Amino acid sequence: MEIRKGIAVSPGIVIAKPMVFDSKDFRIPRRSITASQRMSQVKRVRNAFAEAINELTELDQAHSIEEGKIKDIFAVHLRYLRDKSFRKRITDYVCEELTTAEYAVSVILREIASHFENLKDTYISERAADIYDIESRLLTILLGEVRQEVEDLTEEVVVIAHDLTPTQTAGFNKTYVKGFATEAGGRTSHTAIVARSLGIPAVVALEDVTTNVTAESMVIIDGNRGVVIVDPDEETLDQYRQYALDFLRLEHELDTLRDKPAVTRDGVQINLLANIEFPEETGQALEKGSMGIGLYRTEFLYLTSGSEPTEEDHYKAYSETIKAFKGKPVVIRTMDLGADKLPSRTRYSAEINPVLGLRSIRYCLQNLTLFKTQLKAILRASVLGDIRIMLPLINNLQELRQTKMIIRDVMEDLDEDSIPYNSSVPIGIMIETPSSAITATLLAKDCDFFSIGTNDLTQYTLAVDRANEHVATLYSSADPAVLQLIRGVIHDANKAQIGLSVCGEVASDPEFIILLLGMGARTLSLAPPMIPEIKQIIRSVTVEQCNKLARAVAGMDSQRQIKNYLRDAAMKILPEAF
Ligand code: PEP
Ligand code: MG
Repeated sequence: MEIRKGIAVSPGIVIAKPMVFDSKDFRIPRRSITASQRMSQVKRVRNAFAEAINELTELDQAHSIEEGKIKDIFAVHLRYLRDKSFRKRITDYVCEELTTAEYAVSVILREIASHFENLKDTYISERAADIYDIESRLLTILLGEVRQEVEDLTEEVVVIAHDLTPTQTAGFNKTYVKGFATEAGGRTSHTAIVARSLGIPAVVALEDVTTNVTAESMVIIDGNRGVVIVDPDEETLDQYRQYALDFLRLEHELDTLRDKPAVTRDGVQINLLANIEFPEETGQALEKGSMGIGLYRTEFLYLTSGSEPTEEDHYKAYSETIKAFKGKPVVIRTMDLGADKLPSRTRYSAEINPVLGLRSIRYCLQNLTLFKTQLKAILRASVLGDIRIMLPLINNLQELRQTKMIIRDVMEDLDEDSIPYNSSVPIGIMIETPSSAITATLLAKDCDFFSIGTNDLTQYTLAVDRANEHVATLYSSADPAVLQLIRGVIHDANKAQIGLSVCGEVASDPEFIILLLGMGARTLSLAPPMIPEIKQIIRSVTVEQCNKLARAVAGMDSQRQIKNYLRDAAMKILPEAF
């Protein structure tokens, strides 16, 4: 039995077989196989070689004789791949060491490459690069098979990986993938957000977890305590089966709150909205009692489909959502691509600092055709109900004004074609950078509402990458600097009498709710599965209690002190959730 501690990012408990998702960009871990699995792994090696030969032959034929240098390289690669002794070294390793095909490929090819690298002859030492290329091609083929399996699952599994991109998580078969455990990531990384939205347990920042798991393993993911257990003993299994039942019971109990109002004990109404990534989530958002959509992360339309969505794809997604919500608000955030959210067939060039680079509204403002396609669809859908437009990562007034001008351009285009739209559609912005938080009063004059995106606001205020496990302990929305900005934005929005909501992950976190209410937030947008639990907290407190807690927190000087204080307060109210 192997117990690993990471960061709990999505609650719940699951016990299932693992599906390991390796990446060729990271070390392939040694994973043992049984003697009876030798032949199937040898077959995988042989098939991968055959496929690599096919790929290269096709590539070779696609290049003309004039491209001599490229053809020379293909010829060298093909020679290696057709060399039976080369392949035999790998299959022998599988049989003797009892390891997977991927591991054998990476060990043997790296051995050969490093042998070449150490030779004095520069011509030979440069051949190491060819070997790395061949390794990469073979691993892409072998790992691609696993990826396909995740799409074609027929039984429940938990996915274990070094890291998962938002595109990968979005592409999983949601009926069968019941949990995530990754070595990388933090509480607000997009894998975590998708897991919370799907309501499946997830733990991230687990050192070396992929190494411990084999196809025969059984895995427990405890998304409440941030623990992953590989090959649990009988006693642990029994204990966790009980925990899982208790958790389900609590969930059912909380679900009975669905039709009850989110109102504090002293009668203050709180507006609970849902964050969604996929149109299919609308059903769950309604079931859990949300009063509308407060954040529709539309970039997932790009991430799930292999191609760029058409205006009709956008329109279909938005019109279905707004119809399902029958008159309730649906806040559509224009696409927030970039940083870690890149479409699979990306047209991005790699950036050294993608989080500070061409992402989000900046990307849209430089790719107007793509942006206008989306805006046109949103505006067309705006006649179907209470649709609002939300712009991500607005950093200053100039960016806001420029974007609003583009929206007006699109409105004029629609006028020309006599297509109806709501000309007074509310336009709001996300407050996600210190710059926009500090200048909130200026920005408030030019927009209808703010939504505080605490995930990015925390990242940019503390200069800590939200998805990097190495600095995960430094990332905290309870930091006094972050809280001061949140407090200021709520104050400025109220003063300017514009709408205000909080839609970052703090709104899904039971520990933060009393504080957010105490700081004056009255609209929260959160992961649908968390709505009942958050509603229970709201229904258990008075605004006076919340204000008192917020005043106490304002006098504290460290995130640790604040975090402990918030946790204690929340535990007193809803001990079962901790
Ligand atoms: C945020 O940054 O808080 C937010 C809600 O946006 P996202 O998590 O999609 O970046
Ligand atoms: Mg954000």
